Amino acid sequence: MSAVSSILVVGAGQAAAVAVATLRDQGFDGRITVVGDEAHAPYERPPLSKAVLAAVEADEPGISVKEEDFFSARGIDLRLGTEVVSLDPASAQATLSDGSIVAYDRCLLATGGAARRLPGLTPDAPQVHYLRTLDEARRLRNALRQARSAVIIGAGFLGLEIASTARSMGVEVSVVETASRALGRVVPEAFSNWLQARVAASGATLYLGQSITDLQLPADGVRVSLSDGNVLQADLVVVAVGLVPSTALAQSAGLQLNAANGGIEVDALCRSSDARIYAAGDCTSQHHEGHGALRLESWQNANEQARIAACAMLGVDAPPAAFPWFWTDQFDCNIQMLGLPRAGLHYVLRGGIDPADASPKFIMLGLQGSVPRHALAVNAGGDLRALRPVLERGLSIDAAGFSDTSTTMKAYAKALLASAAG
Ligand SMILES: Cc1cc2nc3c(=O)[nH]c(=O)nc-3n(C[C@H](O)[C@H](O)[C@H](O)COP(=O)(O)OP(=O)(O)OC[C@H]3O[C@@H](n4cnc5c(N)ncnc54)[C@H](O)[C@@H]3O)c2cc1C
Repeated sequence: MSAVSSILVVGAGQAAAVAVATLRDQGFDGRITVVGDEAHAPYERPPLSKAVLAAVEADEPGISVKEEDFFSARGIDLRLGTEVVSLDPASAQATLSDGSIVAYDRCLLATGGAARRLPGLTPDAPQVHYLRTLDEARRLRNALRQARSAVIIGAGFLGLEIASTARSMGVEVSVVETASRALGRVVPEAFSNWLQARVAASGATLYLGQSITDLQLPADGVRVSLSDGNVLQADLVVVAVGLVPSTALAQSAGLQLNAANGGIEVDALCRSSDARIYAAGDCTSQHHEGHGALRLESWQNANEQARIAACAMLGVDAPPAAFPWFWTDQFDCNIQMLGLPRAGLHYVLRGGIDPADASPKFIMLGLQGSVPRHALAVNAGGDLRALRPVLERGLSIDAAGFSDTSTTMKAYAKALLASAAG
């Protein structure tokens, strides 16, 4: 074991919880301090826009990343409701909002990010909502329970999940998006069209290619004017226009940030530009072969980077990060994405993409030449699992064979793997 005897983790979210569990699993018995500015022990954020938002208060699902006594049982000093206000890499010390100072041999920045604010909109007005934290989810849930209508700004994954949950609660929903199609940066046009039809079938209205020319907050709700002249009136507005990575500490400590995406630059071992400081999760920017520097905002990325960073801090080899994977649940569909989209992919389809199908099941596979790089699976998680090693290994496929549903995906993938092996 290396000479590391004290580790400070800044942030008490997904990456923080996985990192400290890994440290103890690896046999590290030194001091671990986790400092989080929220009042809650680390919790899973994906349910915030799904089960937590839809829940009746008394039945809110448990979303803790670790069981209640995990931190005390494993000798981890968890300090909640406390912010790390400054980091001094030269002396390897952090100052906390309660005035205390924590020295470290290694520090992990797991600071995540905050919902991007809409300029000019009073953030704490009662009709204005953002969704990043448990407290914000509870506030939005209470408001949706009393609302007849909501305007959601942003038709990304989060905005659409909120729209879907709000519809399931009987709220009239309008979704406003500046781009000409939903999820335009990450899915092909045919997928956007299918999803947009699904949104419409739920009773929500999508306003695509619209900028907001005016946003008023009268006492009884919101008034949103669109560039096409439409004026939407609703009881509340939810702004879901992306994430700003929390990098203030990193910046003031002089760490290198990515100029394009604003994330903390880390290498494959999650090391920052300071030898003692590592970073993991939504706050990071990392190089991905074939894509350049990316800031991945996903549950899986937070877990993988946390595991790798923890091992690297101890000088232990860790298996490399798993192939990127993401899921979303919306409009009665489970949508999973394997790999990352990139320019120039040609998508082939397996299964039916009929918008009228109430229980769709299909996979779209993005090919670079004959090599699959990106897969989108709707209600087809089992098939996607079978396909995973094909994508991981970059094996060529024949589009007709992939689309032929008379062969199971498991058998098709198995045959491809066997022929590659032999
Ligand atoms: C509503 C919602 C739904 C989602 N759904 C999905 C999904 O379906 N699938 C998926 O793959 N991903 C989903 N995600 C994304 C996923 O939850 C995140 O990628 C993941 O939580 C990132 O973990 P993290 O540890 O990097 O950051 P976080 O979990 O955000 O934790 C960071 C913590 O650090 C704290 N902090 C920041 N600065 C300081 C400081 N200076 N001092 C102390 N504490 C600080 C923050 O307040 C926060 O508590 C969703 C996210 C949200 C918000």
